[in-house]
Amino acid sequence: MTFKDLGLALPILKAIEEQGYTTPTPIQEQAIPILLTKKDLLGVAQTGTGKTAAFSIPIIHHLHTNQEHSKGKKRIKALIVTPTRELAIQIGENFTAYSKHTKVTNTVIFGGVKQQRQVNALRPGVDALIATPGRLLDLMNQNIISLRDIEYVVLDEADQMLDMGFIHDIKKIIAKLPAKRQSLFFSATMPKDIVELSKRILGNFERVTIKPKQATAERVEQGIYFVSKANKPKLLVHLINERPEASVLVFSRTKHGANKIVKKLAQADINSAAIHGNKSQTARQKALGVFKEGKLNVLVATDIAARGIDVDDLSLVINFDLPNIPETYVHRIGRTGRASASGIAISFCMAEERAYLKDIEKLIKQQVPRLGEHPYMEDAQENAEAKPQKPSNNKSRNNNRPSANSNRNRNSSNRRRKNNRNSNRNKPEKRD
Ligand code: AMP
Repeated sequence: MTFKDLGLALPILKAIEEQGYTTPTPIQEQAIPILLTKKDLLGVAQTGTGKTAAFSIPIIHHLHTNQEHSKGKKRIKALIVTPTRELAIQIGENFTAYSKHTKVTNTVIFGGVKQQRQVNALRPGVDALIATPGRLLDLMNQNIISLRDIEYVVLDEADQMLDMGFIHDIKKIIAKLPAKRQSLFFSATMPKDIVELSKRILGNFERVTIKPKQATAERVEQGIYFVSKANKPKLLVHLINERPEASVLVFSRTKHGANKIVKKLAQADINSAAIHGNKSQTARQKALGVFKEGKLNVLVATDIAARGIDVDDLSLVINFDLPNIPETYVHRIGRTGRASASGIAISFCMAEERAYLKDIEKLIKQQVPRLGEHPYMEDAQENAEAKPQKPSNNKSRNNNRPSANSNRNRNSSNRRRKNNRNSNRNKPEKRD
């Protein structure tokens, strides 16, 4: 199937071509025809599947087609709600790219910055609004934004919005939407409370599911190193130094941890930057900007801050910490191997994280390949676990593995570790 087969307006096809997309991704192939018929849609998909284009393109098509008849100041007809500012900005960029040969306009609003510039951008009227929930409600409460003319609404990354405590904001926003509208609901996972939320917004809907397995097993080459907590920074330095040209995204579970990783890398003369909730919006955008431009090779991020990251040439994701929520692992490794590209995701697992690994493997229904020995092994259990296995796909793994003689620093102390496998399992993740 090609984009032409989908029956999209010519200016949109031209923009898609200019983006270099040749064929629709599975979610686009399935969702775009449904959305063009103005049906509601429940999309179970993570970022990296091409879902932004899957929802933006049909909305632009409708706005463009109907625009020929409308006169006067533009009213907001499409609303896209997304959890983070990075994601909002990125959706805005994509929306602008796909609509560049039409007269369809959009603006992006998010919190953490002064509202005046955003208010000024809204003043002349706009077709589509991309917003984070808090700032949207704020401007609605000040009567700067009205949802009365909304015809298309998208709730993006619904599970993440709930995780971030936006449930009440979302319910208030939904309550203000006109009854007659097309609703789109996207979530990477579908736990019970998300199903309930989806029922509030969707009418008679069709469902499209792009399984995380597709994203993980087929496109991302995964691997795991067993390593002690103390040796994680050294192994990280080693892996980065092995690939001086690679653009590497390192995940840390906490903001504090992310800052510590940046410091450790600096001590090894590796330049990196951290993005997380305690960093100012300007600092986050700046770090992301230099990383995307390829001027900075290593970015250290917490899960929420990383949600909006879309870097074309991201070659390696390193999970410095394993997440205690298995779905988060799928989100993280989805940062590499975007759309049709392939990528590598390497995870570090210390003794206390074994239970998390088990949960992840249960979710993705495969074993994450053990990458074998590394230069910083010091534990008998690590050595026992480190037996290399066959990779999950048929690509060569050789460049993932340290060379045979690289275990020179090995110290095989038979230190017994306290096995607290399950102690952290159900604790809520410390997030930003
Ligand atoms: P998303 O899941 O929306 O975050 O998109 C992931 C990445 O895939 C983005 O970098 C898009 O530009 C890219 N992309 C979206 N659709 C296609 C396509 N049909 N062909 C190639 N790349 C695409």
